[in-house]
Amino acid sequence: MAEKRYEKNELVTLKVEDIGTDGEGIGHVDGYALFVKDAVPGDVIEAKILKAKKNYAYARLEKVLEPSPFRVSAKCKDARACGGCQLQALSYEKELELKAKKVRGNLIRIGGFDESEIDAKTEPIIGMEEPWHYRNKAQYPIGTDREGNVIAGFYAGRTHSIIPNLNCHLGSEVNEALLSAVLDWMKAHHIPAYDETEHKGLVRHVLLREGFATGEVMVCLVINGKALPEQEDLVQRILKSDLGNRVVKSICFSPNTSDTNVIMGKSFEIVYGQGYIEDTIGQVRFRISPLSFYQVNPKQTFRLYSQALEYADLQGSETVWDLYCGIGTISLFLAQRAGKVCGVEIIPQAIDNARENAALNGITNAEFFVGAAESVLPAFYSGELTEVSGGSEEARKDEDFLHPDVIVVDPPRKGCDEACLNTMLQMAPDRIVYVSCDSATLARDLRILCDGGYEIRKIRPVDMFPHTVHVETVCLLSKLNDAKHIRERDMEKRR
Ligand code: SAH
Repeated sequence: MAEKRYEKNELVTLKVEDIGTDGEGIGHVDGYALFVKDAVPGDVIEAKILKAKKNYAYARLEKVLEPSPFRVSAKCKDARACGGCQLQALSYEKELELKAKKVRGNLIRIGGFDESEIDAKTEPIIGMEEPWHYRNKAQYPIGTDREGNVIAGFYAGRTHSIIPNLNCHLGSEVNEALLSAVLDWMKAHHIPAYDETEHKGLVRHVLLREGFATGEVMVCLVINGKALPEQEDLVQRILKSDLGNRVVKSICFSPNTSDTNVIMGKSFEIVYGQGYIEDTIGQVRFRISPLSFYQVNPKQTFRLYSQALEYADLQGSETVWDLYCGIGTISLFLAQRAGKVCGVEIIPQAIDNARENAALNGITNAEFFVGAAESVLPAFYSGELTEVSGGSEEARKDEDFLHPDVIVVDPPRKGCDEACLNTMLQMAPDRIVYVSCDSATLARDLRILCDGGYEIRKIRPVDMFPHTVHVETVCLLSKLNDAKHIRERDMEKRR
């Protein structure tokens, strides 16, 4: 197809038609594809070829000749340098449209589903009314500028040089005040920022977390050392910052003397208040330490998991598996409406959190297994749970979990392992609710489930991370054939 091969540094004019996986603009010249960072669909641009391959090339945006009707001015002055937001120059409406289109495209192309089937079953994407300040967690690197001033900011795209900026528009509005308090404290006491090339200096990162529903705030300094000096003054400065109606509940530090890119240390010490904040999503309360995982956009998490709950269609007595359950956010959501829920997660600390959160909410019908879903589920199904940890004696013998009513999965980007999908098919639940953060692996897995006797009923994209390229999808599948019949036959075999 490609007849003309471009040379490096050549200038080309093209119209941008789409966005790629990293948010770059994609356009064509004579059937030859060009990937251009910072170009927006609808733009007519002049671009300079950076790297030319046989059928495609990477190019740099030189000039916008005709701006796209969907182009907006980025809210953040450093949007291009940062790279954390790939889509700030695109209107939010168009962003949502393109995200929905991406999910649709993957289901059709990778999953091999019919266009008409996908269109009939897809519900409108759930976006945010106010797509800013949605992140409840920020990790600011601390460094020193050329003049020797301590700075906080973000790493310039794919580098380790810090661009000073205290006001990320995705984070909480009080982050700037909290960071200023920390920087002022460092200046006042000549406390050095960490220098990663020399592996010297003290303050590496500042972690800020906020419970949006509770107004509770946490500040945690990650330090290259074992002790934090001048603690009393740090506390006073943080407590004096203007935080509106929020309350600082926790000030801590986490020692991290390793020479790696890992941000947090392995432990933390309390300097002021308690070692955690609390937040709620829907009716469920969560306790969050500096080290615990917690969804970063709680508002959209509520919507995503409410959608999953609606698709699960629980009446109160159902048996449910929640695979890849993390700290049990979905499990605890489901447990309020189900008979019993069993969560499976590979990270033991996440399961500790899940159990603590269950206890905090007085939820007693949720059990948790630690291990890979693709090991735990087949082991449970074959009755060979000796190698698996977690789960009460009762749960381990509970036959209802052999053929649950619903299985919910929320895997990482790589999707579900085939062994996990195959056991799900054998367990033959009436409904499967698939929560996905990557529609390409979702499409691949849906194909396996549909070939195994399930049918897609509903699909709903949800925008959890406005201005970035990520999009989540919830999908409801139900068993095509007589699920009850298969169950009974299988139970018969076991007896
Ligand atoms: N629903 C969860 C988040 C899911 S993110 C919550 O809201 O807390 C995906 C989770 O899958 C992560 O917690 C990750 O640790 C876990 N995970 C990754 N691979 C896994 C595997 N093979 N088996 C089980 N869990 C896995």
